[in-house]
Amino acid sequence: NKIEDDYVMGEALGKGKFGSVFLCRSKVTGVEFACKTLPKGEETVHKEVEIMQHLSGHPGVVTLHSVYEDAESFHLVMELCSGGRLIDEMMKEGRYSEHKSANIFKDLMLVIQYCHDMGVVHRDIKPENILLTASGKIKLADFGLAMRIANGQSLSGLAGSPAYVAPEVLTGDYGQKADIWSAGVLLHALLVGVLPFQGDSLDALFEAIKSMQLDFHSEKCQSVSKLARDLLERILTRDVAARITAEEVLSHPWMMFYTERTL
Ligand code: ADP
Ligand code: MG
Ligand code: MG
Repeated sequence: NKIEDDYVMGEALGKGKFGSVFLCRSKVTGVEFACKTLPKGEETVHKEVEIMQHLSGHPGVVTLHSVYEDAESFHLVMELCSGGRLIDEMMKEGRYSEHKSANIFKDLMLVIQYCHDMGVVHRDIKPENILLTASGKIKLADFGLAMRIANGQSLSGLAGSPAYVAPEVLTGDYGQKADIWSAGVLLHALLVGVLPFQGDSLDALFEAIKSMQLDFHSEKCQSVSKLARDLLERILTRDVAARITAEEVLSHPWMMFYTERTL
């Protein structure tokens, strides 16, 4: 079947580096989905599909529903996240309360922990790739840069988005802890309202990521709790071995204190 046989295509939901994402509706069931269309010749499509299928068992991962192929493109029919992107919500909100940040970060860490347990490094954790459902639950999307790695294996080669990239990605080998760093950059943005590392040029930004001492004494940080600062420091450490894992983040006192307890 061609995608047009099974789905009615609708408005554009987003545009990425290689392809576009459109709303679509099943002609059979009437259910709405998001369709990511990627031009052929992109070898990485197969990997993206394979990894999404591999990770399909977790509620925090955008589910891949079906895949179509035609002469020019692949079409990935995915679960629709009608709440949009976390980045857009952050732009509106400015900065988040400790309570709201902790609840978002907990859900993000649970899905990152799952990816890591499944042997996957996402490599592009940022709020443009974190989507929201109608009820406001987060879903991790965009596995276009994700890699499967065996235990103890490491990756090399620059990947990700400049402001979120871990220092070890800039200088050499890296692994799953690079995702933790990126998530820490996001946590800083949630709590403080600005990115921790900035620069007027790409070089200046990378220099800041590699060597700038984080300062939590600025006026902006005054309202950030001691526990949150402690967690940020444990994540945004350049010593990869010392940087905490997803599991350790989840049991950090800040998480325990500020997330909702569920029975
Ligand atoms: P790229 O690899 O090109 O960055 P993404 O997978 O991140 O592509 O998708 C690009 C944009 O499309 C996202 O930032 C988001 O706005 C939108 N989008 C992607 N997947 C979905 C989805 N499942 N539901 C709703 N919108 C989506
Ligand atoms: Mg993306
Ligand atoms: Mg991508």
